[in-house]
Amino acid sequence: MTRWVDTHGHLHLRAGFEPSPEVGSGEPSRLARGDDDSAVLLDRAAAAGVGWMVNPGTDAASSEESFRLAARFPGVVLPTAGLHPHDAARWPAQADAIARLAAGAVAVGECGLDFYRNLSAPEDQVTAFRDQLRLAADLDKPVIVHCRDAFAQIHDLLESTGCGPRAVLHCWTGGPRWTKRFDALGVSFSFAGPLVFPTGDTVRRGAAVAPPERTMVETDTPYLNPIDKAAPNEPANVVRVGEALAEVWGIPVNEVAEMTTATATRVFRHG
Ligand SMILES: [Zn+2]
Repeated sequence: MTRWVDTHGHLHLRAGFEPSPEVGSGEPSRLARGDDDSAVLLDRAAAAGVGWMVNPGTDAASSEESFRLAARFPGVVLPTAGLHPHDAARWPAQADAIARLAAGAVAVGECGLDFYRNLSAPEDQVTAFRDQLRLAADLDKPVIVHCRDAFAQIHDLLESTGCGPRAVLHCWTGGPRWTKRFDALGVSFSFAGPLVFPTGDTVRRGAAVAPPERTMVETDTPYLNPIDKAAPNEPANVVRVGEALAEVWGIPVNEVAEMTTATATRVFRHG
């Protein structure tokens, strides 16, 4: 029985993942033998009530990897195709491949703007993001958006392109003001580990004003483990994010499961 949906997890990045020393103890990965196998992780997710997950690609090769996982776990892992802002400089070389893959995916992305790490030039990021918004509109699909230190720019691009209602703002970290401004564009919000972290007060204040009918939960596997920051994340942990949302909203956890799953089913047209 599907109780939860993890709307954003990179299963293909889990194998070999080691948490960054800045958030962890610096110990090597704590993965037990065989623990990085997607089948093991999905079994644990199913046992926790996670019915299915969206596995976003971040470039052409990882989008193909996402499709391979989807073929191996039909109906449980859903593929997307997109180019992450970190790699935006590669957009001209990848645009055709990503467009071809996106036609068969449940969403375009992950794409967006990251003016925190700035691993690609800002103008390249804007071009790649705008083109992927257009691709999502052409294909009539949702678009998974990565937003870091780029609230105003992403807000304005979603507004000017009319893509707000198809945007899923993944790992949303905005406070109440930005949450309300984006809500007015009709976007969907997806919350991750930062909603749980002790440092997450701003995120929690944002979540308090997020529209329940357009809010979802995710893990961002293998990053942002909400239970043990030093360990790699996995889809089963989406339940902990849902519990945090229930605390913020002051409602029972099962209602959060029902609402977020209904939203994911509608947004990704799967269920
Ligand atoms: Zn991601």
